[in-house]
Amino acid sequence: MKISKVFLYDEPSVPEININELGRFIKEKFCVEVEIREQFFSFFKDSTSKIAYELATSKIFNLLAPFEKRTPTSEEIILEENSITNFTNTSNIVMYDGFEFRQIVANTIPEIESRPDKFHLICTNKLTCTYDYEDYRYHGRAVICSNPAIISTTGIIEAPAKPREYYLGMFENMVQGLNLDMMKNQFKGKYLEYHDVKLSEIIKGYAMQALFYYLTGQPFCESKDCRLYNAHWQEDLLHSQLTVSNLCNQHQKILDEITKNCE
Ligand SMILES: [Zn+2]
Repeated sequence: MKISKVFLYDEPSVPEININELGRFIKEKFCVEVEIREQFFSFFKDSTSKIAYELATSKIFNLLAPFEKRTPTSEEIILEENSITNFTNTSNIVMYDGFEFRQIVANTIPEIESRPDKFHLICTNKLTCTYDYEDYRYHGRAVICSNPAIISTTGIIEAPAKPREYYLGMFENMVQGLNLDMMKNQFKGKYLEYHDVKLSEIIKGYAMQALFYYLTGQPFCESKDCRLYNAHWQEDLLHSQLTVSNLCNQHQKILDEITKNCE
C-alpha cells in the first residue's frame, strides 16, 4: 500500500498531543505529505446532528456483552453535539465501540478523500473499546488500526494497565480508608496521567503503529525495544516510547525500504 498524503486530525481538548510536532514527525519518518486539520467532527461539521446521533448509538453500556445498537435518548444526542462543539467538557469517560466509531468516521469522509492513497489519522479523547471473545468483555484500545485509523488519548492512559502494585495498594488503602492521593504520588512517573506532557512523545509510537499496519499489514512488534511494541502495561509503554524511542533494526529496515525513493 502506498500513501500520498496523511490527513491528521487534532483533539483540541488534549493540547499535549502537540499536533504540529506529530505532523512533522510523520512527514519526516514516512516521507509523506501531512495536512493537519481541526477536530474531525468539527472539520466535517455539516452533519453535526447526524454524527451526534450516530455517536450516541455507538456507546457501550454493558462491558460484558457484545455491541448492541440501541436508540439513544435526546439527552444523549445533545451530550454528543456538545462534545463536538465544546471541547472543554471532558470530565466523564464515555466508552464507544471502536469499530462502530471507526465506521462513523469512515462514513463521514467524503468520497473524494476516501482513496487508498489518502490516510486519515484521527486523534480523539473518546475512549474506543473493542469486545474480546476470549474473555467475553470490552477492553479499552489506544489505537484502532485501519484507514481511517483512530488514536484514543484516553485509551493511551486507560488501556495499558498500571503496575500491579498500584491496584493492590489502591485496594489496601481503600480498605483501610487511607488517602489515595498519597499512594498515587508513590507511583508518579510510572504511568501516564491525564494531560501528561509525555503524551506528545508517546502518541508518535501509536501513529507509527497505525501507519505500519496500513503500509505492511503488521502494526506491532514482539520486542519491547521497539516503538511498535503493543504495550499492555504502562511501564512497558513508557519503556518503548520514551526510553527506547526508536524502531528495532528489523522495523527500521522495513521503514527504510518504504521510504527509499524519497526526495
Ligand atoms: Zn520492531
